[in-house]
Amino acid sequence: MKLIEPIVANTPEIAALRKDIHAHPELCFQEVRTADVVAAKLTEWGIPIHRGMGTTGVVGIVKAGTSSRALALRADMDALPMQEFNTFAHASQHAGKMHACGHDGHTAMLLAAAQHFAKHRNFDGTVYLVFQPAEEGGGGAREMIKDGLFEQFPVEAVFGMHNWPGMAAGTFAASAGPVMASSGLRSSSAGRARSAVPTFRTWSGTTDPWCSPW
Ligand SMILES: [Zn+2]
Repeated sequence: MKLIEPIVANTPEIAALRKDIHAHPELCFQEVRTADVVAAKLTEWGIPIHRGMGTTGVVGIVKAGTSSRALALRADMDALPMQEFNTFAHASQHAGKMHACGHDGHTAMLLAAAQHFAKHRNFDGTVYLVFQPAEEGGGGAREMIKDGLFEQFPVEAVFGMHNWPGMAAGTFAASAGPVMASSGLRSSSAGRARSAVPTFRTWSGTTDPWCSPW
């Protein structure tokens, strides 16, 4: 994999951000501090932001050149209701909450991309950086869409990603269709079927196991 040198050089700053977010996990639709961190960094880097979409969602806007074409990159910000037993310095400071799914990494990675785009602007068009709440079953993507995400920020495509610990470091996998556990349709224990929009991996149901146990 060919790495982008300026991003590699900035690893310490982004790693520190990841650890800070890891130490302060917030559950779905409660990502207030995380959204504050994201908004502060985007603003520091000169990126206009829109806040409050889907409750705590943040959208950063980076433009370059003259093209009217646009795409979005998306990351999720929420943590899981789990107790962390790690003892390293950046372990969770909130009992019963943990970034066990890696969304601290997703958020930090998208911040790194945002910083790079804003600094170099070596593209033609608009990139929206979408930081969504409540990926863990809360339907945060759906809430952002209901709040007018694509009316305010129309795009040709949205690219999302999820870490996959089983894959070797330095590798990347892509699929045209659903790939994660909650993708497609499945039956819950209560007999309700749920689905996921591949790009956003969100529930179609109105309740979820983490935000409102059932
Ligand atoms: Zn996840």
